[in-house]
Amino acid sequence: MTQEKQNSGAKTNIVIYLLLGLICLTPNLFYAFTGSTFADSLTKKAAYLFLSLIVFLIPFLFLKRKTAFTFSLLYVILSPLEIIHLMMYKDGVNSGFMLLLRQTNLSEALELTSSFAVYAIVWIFIIVVYIILLTKIRSNTPLFSSLQKRYFLIISSGTFVGLYLYTLSLGLINLTFKEAYRFSKEAYPQKFAKLYPLDIFIATKNAIKTRNEINRLSQNIANFRFNAKSGNPITDKEVYVLVIGETARYANFGINGYHRNTSPHLAKTSSLHSFHDVYTEANFTEGALPIMLTRATADNFEISRKEKSILEAFKECGFKTYWLSNQSFGNPFIGRITSESTGKYSTVKDYDSANNYDTYLLPNLDKVLSFNDRKQFIVIHSLGSHFRYNFRYPEEFRIFRPDFEGAFDYTAIKSSNKDKLINTYDNTMLFTDHFLSQIIEKLQKKSCISYMYYISDHGENLFDIGESVLHGGRIPTKYDAHIPLFIWTSKEFNSIFPEKILAIQNNLHKSITSSVSFHSLLDLANISVADMNFQKSIASLSLKSDSNRVMLNSNMETIVIR
Ligand SMILES: [Zn+2]
Repeated sequence: MTQEKQNSGAKTNIVIYLLLGLICLTPNLFYAFTGSTFADSLTKKAAYLFLSLIVFLIPFLFLKRKTAFTFSLLYVILSPLEIIHLMMYKDGVNSGFMLLLRQTNLSEALELTSSFAVYAIVWIFIIVVYIILLTKIRSNTPLFSSLQKRYFLIISSGTFVGLYLYTLSLGLINLTFKEAYRFSKEAYPQKFAKLYPLDIFIATKNAIKTRNEINRLSQNIANFRFNAKSGNPITDKEVYVLVIGETARYANFGINGYHRNTSPHLAKTSSLHSFHDVYTEANFTEGALPIMLTRATADNFEISRKEKSILEAFKECGFKTYWLSNQSFGNPFIGRITSESTGKYSTVKDYDSANNYDTYLLPNLDKVLSFNDRKQFIVIHSLGSHFRYNFRYPEEFRIFRPDFEGAFDYTAIKSSNKDKLINTYDNTMLFTDHFLSQIIEKLQKKSCISYMYYISDHGENLFDIGESVLHGGRIPTKYDAHIPLFIWTSKEFNSIFPEKILAIQNNLHKSITSSVSFHSLLDLANISVADMNFQKSIASLSLKSDSNRVMLNSNMETIVIR
């Protein structure tokens, strides 16, 4: 009788432990089955859940069972963050989201909570259930026997080592051993950065680091002024738009002579001028952006930390400035310069989110254009053609086939898949054409003095030269250097600045670099700063052709490209 009672007691305990474990790991289950990262692979889902279980059980090695389950209440308390983020973006929490939580003002926060009120009630209910189940655990002894602990240690260290070797082997497909080792050093911690609840702590830590960095950078240049001045006073409305492309390369635009018609809308747009010989001064995003947005260059990158950005120059001339983006969270430079803007609209998705199409920025653009500002400078930071290419466009833009689908594995990036990779990439070009023509259409409707200046941060390698793929390599290639730069101007702009249009037409074949952007954007708006360099303005006949162009690689080394 006593034996039976003990058995049934043990069974009840096991049911309680399983229930508690299940409650704790609900976000992980949610991630495995709704996150876009594992959409294609049951093995990856299983591996993620297995790793989650191991991390969950680690406290049970050191703590007694009741204490460990009490500690795990943290999983339940933090779960809404992860689940809400998964519901919104099909991805786990990132530092951008944590930064946003801190920045979100009270009304927005209340809006968020009221729409999630039902979930909040469920959440509180689950916490109560969890605590009641906790009180049912009578004996507070270790959960594992010492033999079980030993097995657990063998299995978990085997898993960690196995995961590391898997990461290293991914690198070895395309890299030398030394490079693959360096890659694994970065990629291995990333595997844990996605694991709930570690992702919350890592994202919070990164968000705090970014915030401090932004504050430090801003304080250093708080008193900086460009002394920018407008030329002839213009009383009409002015709206200038800079669109920063991502990973778009010059050669794959139909309007630049590509054999596929990847830019049908832009081809039909009048008053659009494409520059043919523009190189980026950095073949990676973090290097490329400051060179376009400040007076920094590849051989004087420090300026980006000593001076403010183009937003400030426009602001000094009475412009309202706006930043619309679906990336760039967590980038301290962007964080700093957008803190100078009148308004910013950002989604907190990142490269790995499957549903962050650039067109999602258009309603924000509509909103900004509806404001009653007389002068606006708007920056749109797009996600363009960033890898995974197929995540950048919806179903109806799958014109070039076969293309990649879902969260395809990095091991699929091999030269035997070159055609498929190019098809997928070219579909992003079609979508960029659609996106940009939508922006132009909106500006046309405003019937004001207006331009849209489009430039990509860098290009991309698509197995054009041997095994070279993606971008940001130590030795830049023509394919990640040569970028699209084109400008559309409104009728009203053309009639007030005919000499600028003439200069643009005259400059289309000059050899220039991305650092012309700062000077050109201002000169196009008839604004000049102290020590204005017209040799760097595409709207000036003085624009200088460079025979030696300098570029920063991702190791921050300057390389001359001839
Ligand atoms: Zn980039």
